[in-house]
Amino acid sequence: MAVSLTLLGIAQDGGVPHAGCACSHCMAAHRDHQLRRHPVACGVLGADGSMHLIEASRSLPDQMRLWAETVGIGGVARPDSVSLTHVHLGHVDGLGQFGKEVMGVSNLPLYASSSVIAEMEKREVMEPFSPSEVSPMQGFEPSEGCGFELFFVPVPHRDEFADTHAILIRGPSRSALFLPDHDKWDATLAEHGAETIRGWLAEIGADLALIDGSFWDSGELPGRDMSEIPHPTVSESLLRLGVRSEGDPEIHFIHLNHSNPLLNQEKEYDELTGMGWGVGWQGQHFSL
Ligand SMILES: [Zn+2]
Ligand SMILES: [Zn+2]
Ligand SMILES: [Zn+2]
Repeated sequence: MAVSLTLLGIAQDGGVPHAGCACSHCMAAHRDHQLRRHPVACGVLGADGSMHLIEASRSLPDQMRLWAETVGIGGVARPDSVSLTHVHLGHVDGLGQFGKEVMGVSNLPLYASSSVIAEMEKREVMEPFSPSEVSPMQGFEPSEGCGFELFFVPVPHRDEFADTHAILIRGPSRSALFLPDHDKWDATLAEHGAETIRGWLAEIGADLALIDGSFWDSGELPGRDMSEIPHPTVSESLLRLGVRSEGDPEIHFIHLNHSNPLLNQEKEYDELTGMGWGVGWQGQHFSL
C-alpha cells in the first residue's frame, strides 16, 4: 500500500458555518451542506494499511467517512494513532468521541508535546489514550511498519495553555509539512534560523506544505485590530512567496476562517492559484 495523506478539513477551529455568525459564507453553508467545511485535520495512511490521524475535531464522524472513501476502503476509518499540534478548540474538541460515550476505545497511542499532554490531562479527556511525549525535530514512526515518520516542528503561536508544533510527515518519496496555526512568519522563521519561507521548507525537506491561511488580509475583520490576531495573512504569505517556479515546493493554504474570501472561487482565489499555489480542499489526497 502506498503511504498517503488525506486532508480531512480545511477550516479554522470554528468551521463553516461558524457559531454565532450570519455572514454570507455561513448562511450559504446553512442552506447547502456541500458548502460546510470541517476544522483542519489530516489522515495519514501507512504502507501497512495503518491509519494515523492528526488533530481530533468535532467533525470526526464525517472526517472518518471522508478518509475511508478517499483511500477506497469501505465503512469508516478507525485511527491507529492520534497526533496533536496544539490544544486550541478545533484541534482537540473531538477527543471526547474516542471515550466511553461514543467509540469506547482504550490505549490508543496519542502523540503530542509534554505540555499538550499535561493540558489535555487537566481537561480530563485522556482516558481512551496511551500518551507519548514527542521531542521536537526527532522523527518517529507512530506505529511499527507504517513506513513513514512524523517530526514535530516547534512554532510560536499564542501559547497560553501549552506549546504549538507543525508536523512534518516524511514518507518514502515525499515529505509534507502540516502547519495549521502560527503567529507570524518573522517569529517562525527566526525560531528556525531561516530567512525565507522557501529556505525554511528546503531546510526541513518539505516537498509539500499545507500552511496557515486563516485570513486573506487585514481588512477582513472590520473593527478588529488584525495585529492582535495571531496568524500571518495569506496576502503577506503570497508577498513573501512570489510566483512559484521550478523546484519550488507545492503549497496549499488551509485553516480558512469563515470570513476568508478564498472560500469563494473568485478573484482572491484566482490571484493565488495564478501564482502557482493552491487552496486545500476536503478529501484532497497526496501520495507520499
Ligand atoms: Zn486552529
Ligand atoms: Zn461567518
Ligand atoms: Zn491555534
